[in-house]
Amino acid sequence: MKKISILGSTGSIGTNTLDVISRRPSEFKVIGLSAYRNVGLFAKQIKKFKPKIISVKDDDVARELEKLIDLSNIKIYTQAEGLSHIAAHPEVQIVVVATTGTISLVPTLRALEKNKTIALANKEPLVMAGKIVMDRLKKSKGRIIPVDSEHSAIFQCLQKEQRRTLKRIYLTGSGGPFHNLPKSKLKDVSLNMALKHPKWKMGRKITIDSATLMNKGLELIEACWLFGVSPDKIEILIHPEAMVHSMVEFCDGSILAQLGITDMRLPIQYALDYPQRKPNKLKGVDFFKVNKLTFIKPDLSKFPCLNIAKTVARKAGSYGCVMNAANEISVHAFLDGQIKFTEIPKIINKVIKRNKPINNPTLKEIFAVDDWARKEAQLLCYRQ
Ligand code: MG
Repeated sequence: MKKISILGSTGSIGTNTLDVISRRPSEFKVIGLSAYRNVGLFAKQIKKFKPKIISVKDDDVARELEKLIDLSNIKIYTQAEGLSHIAAHPEVQIVVVATTGTISLVPTLRALEKNKTIALANKEPLVMAGKIVMDRLKKSKGRIIPVDSEHSAIFQCLQKEQRRTLKRIYLTGSGGPFHNLPKSKLKDVSLNMALKHPKWKMGRKITIDSATLMNKGLELIEACWLFGVSPDKIEILIHPEAMVHSMVEFCDGSILAQLGITDMRLPIQYALDYPQRKPNKLKGVDFFKVNKLTFIKPDLSKFPCLNIAKTVARKAGSYGCVMNAANEISVHAFLDGQIKFTEIPKIINKVIKRNKPINNPTLKEIFAVDDWARKEAQLLCYRQ
């Protein structure tokens, strides 16, 4: 039986992970769960999966939760410290890292220190501090299995291959809701238009990232770290059918692709079962309904976030941390109706230009840079 903790159990990856677990109760046991403040759903999850240890946003949320469910046999923590306890719990073998934002960086490092397997859905740890995470991984007996559908695809394609024969990675993306919208119309798009993703149902922040294509940019940086490749070896393809989840090309020109339906339970299950592969009841691909697969070059002038991310991936150091923080603040400002959709990349660029780069930042420096970039972006987003 595999013993699992989930950081971010009420989010889209968290609920899908619990769905996979609930279908195979004899194979998986939940040890720890964390949520932010969705106490209603969290109480139901606690009742059903009976974790030993949980964490929520703060003491107020903990008190609200206690009104809904008896927590007398459960250890309860708060904030990032709580996530670290859950990630490093001695019984836990697999830690599913699926929070939003930067809070999961330290718990991810703690889990690696304790030689756990990380099922990584959260992009921030690698984007902010890729070198620190990968250095910690090298020293660890644990491993990182990517859960993001694209990285899971690349990981699966590379399983039996030697990495030195890798020539190129084709990172695919659906193109988001504005793929077919003329560039001139982009400045007037509403929040509701941006929140309508054509293929995936996800949280609000990542849905906006998909609309600006910053999500693909974050994935590019993540892929550079995970698979040890330079950004010039990663080609981004817009693939509206979202069936090829990514591909790898080898030195002989041969290409392997991973295909599947757009259901996150697929890469989640792969990460939980790794190195095995197990059957499930999900419906498969119907090629006769798909009819055709298309691949289109992304329009970099329409989606400047992609170019920003490419430059940031090349420069590495503290650049990823700055970009991530500025993006998060500007996306939230857009969600709050404070800025236009097309201002998101402009603000990120301004913050990047003002930053004093650090080549090999320590964890402490990463947090200082993150804090600085957030404040700079706040000033630009909420200036009136
Ligand atoms: Mg993805």
